[in-house]
Amino acid sequence: MVRPLMNSHLEGVCDKEIHYLLFFSSLSTKAAIEKGLLKGVEVGEDKVLVSHLQYADDTIFFGEWNRLNTLNLRNILKCFELSSGLKVNFQKSCLYGVGVDFSDASRMARHIGCQVEGDNLHSPPIGIWNNIIAAGVAMDEIQVPFTHSFIKTIGDGGSTSFWQEHWIGSDKLCNLFPRLYRLELNQNASVKDRCCKLNDELTTSWNWSRIPSGRTYDELHRLVELFNTLECNNNNSDTWRWAFVSSGVFTVKKLTVILDEQILGQYTSPQNTFRNNLVPKKVEIFIWRALKGRLPVKIELDKRGIDLHSVRCPLCDNDLESVEHTLISCKCVEDIWCRIYKWWNVGSFVPSNISDVLGEDNPPSTTKFGGRLWQAIKWISAYLIWKNRNNLMLDLV
Ligand SMILES: [Zn+2]
Repeated sequence: MVRPLMNSHLEGVCDKEIHYLLFFSSLSTKAAIEKGLLKGVEVGEDKVLVSHLQYADDTIFFGEWNRLNTLNLRNILKCFELSSGLKVNFQKSCLYGVGVDFSDASRMARHIGCQVEGDNLHSPPIGIWNNIIAAGVAMDEIQVPFTHSFIKTIGDGGSTSFWQEHWIGSDKLCNLFPRLYRLELNQNASVKDRCCKLNDELTTSWNWSRIPSGRTYDELHRLVELFNTLECNNNNSDTWRWAFVSSGVFTVKKLTVILDEQILGQYTSPQNTFRNNLVPKKVEIFIWRALKGRLPVKIELDKRGIDLHSVRCPLCDNDLESVEHTLISCKCVEDIWCRIYKWWNVGSFVPSNISDVLGEDNPPSTTKFGGRLWQAIKWISAYLIWKNRNNLMLDLV
């Protein structure tokens, strides 16, 4: 989707005036949208309309990329200036064209007398997007192909670029069929412009600078063959799917699991010593990973080349954050172990290495069941200590 972002800067605003101004400019933007003078951007499945975001004396306006929309926005800001007596500083304001040719954005910015920033999607305008893209690239580098994990699902094909987005086949069509792409007269054509599949019947509509022949014809033949796999749902608009899960819905939780597995090694079938049918499977896996040093504690991440500010325990700051420290010897958990040992009446707890505490039935119990029960209690305790550590880490962020 193509949309401009405009960040406008108000001059001469003191704090007391801000609330009034926010209210005023919200009302005027809302009125402009209701009257059809300004078109915001619809976000998400519920199509929530976003027209502007405000913070203190800065406002970001969102809208469809077209000349009329941008000129109307400028006029609304001019009206705001006249009625409020406050100046909107256009020279300090920026126009961002997301997915728009930088030259188009520059031309539009000159027209309304503001600056232009960002060089289309390759250099997105807002800091947070830069961070997200940098994180995506970092994941690609450790073989978690994040930046290629979002796939377009074609509905009516109206908001997907036929040539320049990856929506069918193994890559973008401009890369798979470069000769045809060169013949295309409208390289920005949408999928809807070029093909439609209704009840398994494919209709194509081309716009070539000359009729494809020879190798170019072969490419066309292969392209049409590719459409055999195409499934359109003409009643819906195009949507994005996340390729890593069958539901197609992105979750941070699943991504974290994938990253952990990639960085710390996959869980393979545990040996019998890691089996205890009194605990849930996830606890068995957790203990197996803990004993193999495959939990994402700072020292393990550092070993694997992840850049961290510090490798010290974020809870006590007394030692490096190793698996052993986190689960056994951190002074923040030592008291928990002392109480558990006292409760189970197995002598006093002495912080030792992790396999002494979690690996064996230690001390051996008089009955087999008693041994398994004691092991289950320690495993679940370690699991809960880890969950708590993760929650605390989230609070510290
Ligand atoms: Zn600690």
